[in-house]
Amino acid sequence: MDHRRIRNIVIVGGGTAGWMAAASLVKSLDGLGVQIRLIESAHIGTVGVGEATIPPIMDFIRQLGIAEDDLVGDVKATYKLGIGYRDWTRPGHFYFHPFGPTGPGIGSIPFQAYWLKMFLTGGAAPLEDYSIQAAAALRGRFTRPVHAPNTPLNKIAYALHFDASSFAGYLRGFAEARGVRRTVGDVRGVALNPQTGYVESVTLADGESVQADLFIDCSGFRGLLIEEALGTGYDDWSHWLPCDRALVVHSEPAAAPDPYTLVTARDAGWQWRIPLQHRNGNGYVYGSDFISDDAARATLLSSVDGRRLSEPMALRFTPGRRRKAWNRNVVALGLAAGFLEPLEATGIYLIQRGIAMLLRFFPDRDFATADIDRYNRVLESEYNRVRDFLLLHYTQTERSGAFWQHTRSIPLTDSLLEKIELFRSHGRILREDAELFPVMSWLSVMIGQNIIPRRYDPLVDGLDARKLQSRLDELRGTIARSVESMPAHWDFIQGMYARQV
Ligand SMILES: Cc1cc2nc3c(=O)[nH]c(=O)nc-3n(C[C@H](O)[C@H](O)[C@H](O)COP(=O)(O)OP(=O)(O)OC[C@H]3O[C@@H](n4cnc5c(N)ncnc54)[C@H](O)[C@@H]3O)c2cc1C
Repeated sequence: MDHRRIRNIVIVGGGTAGWMAAASLVKSLDGLGVQIRLIESAHIGTVGVGEATIPPIMDFIRQLGIAEDDLVGDVKATYKLGIGYRDWTRPGHFYFHPFGPTGPGIGSIPFQAYWLKMFLTGGAAPLEDYSIQAAAALRGRFTRPVHAPNTPLNKIAYALHFDASSFAGYLRGFAEARGVRRTVGDVRGVALNPQTGYVESVTLADGESVQADLFIDCSGFRGLLIEEALGTGYDDWSHWLPCDRALVVHSEPAAAPDPYTLVTARDAGWQWRIPLQHRNGNGYVYGSDFISDDAARATLLSSVDGRRLSEPMALRFTPGRRRKAWNRNVVALGLAAGFLEPLEATGIYLIQRGIAMLLRFFPDRDFATADIDRYNRVLESEYNRVRDFLLLHYTQTERSGAFWQHTRSIPLTDSLLEKIELFRSHGRILREDAELFPVMSWLSVMIGQNIIPRRYDPLVDGLDARKLQSRLDELRGTIARSVESMPAHWDFIQGMYARQV
């Protein structure tokens, strides 16, 4: 077995994907003697705008053994408890998609079933009042989970907003300190083995030929190895996801940072505001069939809070995914593997998942087909699930205008249709296996976008309505009191610096 071990890995690309891969692999393969080399161009820039994350990023950080406070200070991160959706369902409307679980069930009856009964019969407050993440976010509060029994403060689910380029830089320091070799150079050629079609080496602009057993393609949208060399193919999902461009601009913070991403629906797409410690990130994601670039630019610039700190950066993309993220001895991560718009901040998560699965099915030089096929099926299903969740947002809104009329007419996938129908019939939420988005995500977006079930689950009628009422009142009160005891988000961050001194 040992003589077939992977001896060396070449990562092409030094964006977020490349350095996440380098940091994870060098940590996880420690002791195996695998040489890891990362090649990045000095001329071809990184995208570097992925500023919002979701809770699994905290596991990534912990698994590397990185101290959270150190990272937060270094990359000027803020905390994120969820996403606020403004004007999305209809102009003037607001709903919140919080991280974390729903409230506790009663016996075998889940929270959403009894909350829904009381909501439909006028006895329950909006969902936001029963989530510690939502209630805290909307009051600008944050704390990390506290170790104490019987308090919602012990289960706070959170993620980070950060400067993606700084995050990649931080991971670069981590990876290089542990032996990853960095080469600055442009890959100009890719040599394939004539018999197997495997990548044997890449050639740099200075003529150096770099060989490896395993190649990780983190070269961005073009997919230098996975597509240009191996011709893997790309599934274009434009018929599902209507946006193909983004404009990004930074601005001075006009107020203390909110612990959530704000998403505002616009005529031809949506705008994000992501607060960091030192600036806000803003972007307009739009469909070029519905608005000109100039009009999109004017919309973005007229709605940014605070003084503008950069010129708008324009990005074009084709939503979709590479048909196989792993082909022969090449594994694509990040933009090389696919792109789904950042509405639910899943880009960095999909990189993380790709790395985790690569480690789970880590090959030897025989590259077993069963491992590669399973890897590809897992990643395909991750992309499909994110796509369904995005589609939910686009198809269930009451907004008018050509863009939103179009999005409402997009055919649902069978998997999403089933989810919506089960919810409409009795408020039931279907989740398969280890699905990324928890019940609370589906519940808050479906209710937020006005999908109101026709009936509630009949089993809830077995519970006494007065007891249900007092259970909900108690939960809401406990959450409200807990939020009152939390520091303001900005105070928490500044306190963290004070604690470091
Ligand atoms: C508008 C927008 C908003 C986003 N927002 C979010 C978000 O909020 N949250 C989130 O999780 N994700 C978000 N993403 C996704 C996230 O930005 C990407 O997943 C992440 O940045 C990974 O990029 P990457 O490393 O794959 O590619 P890139 O950043 O494009 O890096 C590519 C690397 O390859 C190198 N390279 C290319 N060609 C060569 C060559 N020939 N030789 C040598 N090197 C080469 C480049 O120099 C660079 O280092 C967003 C993406 C976009 C487009």
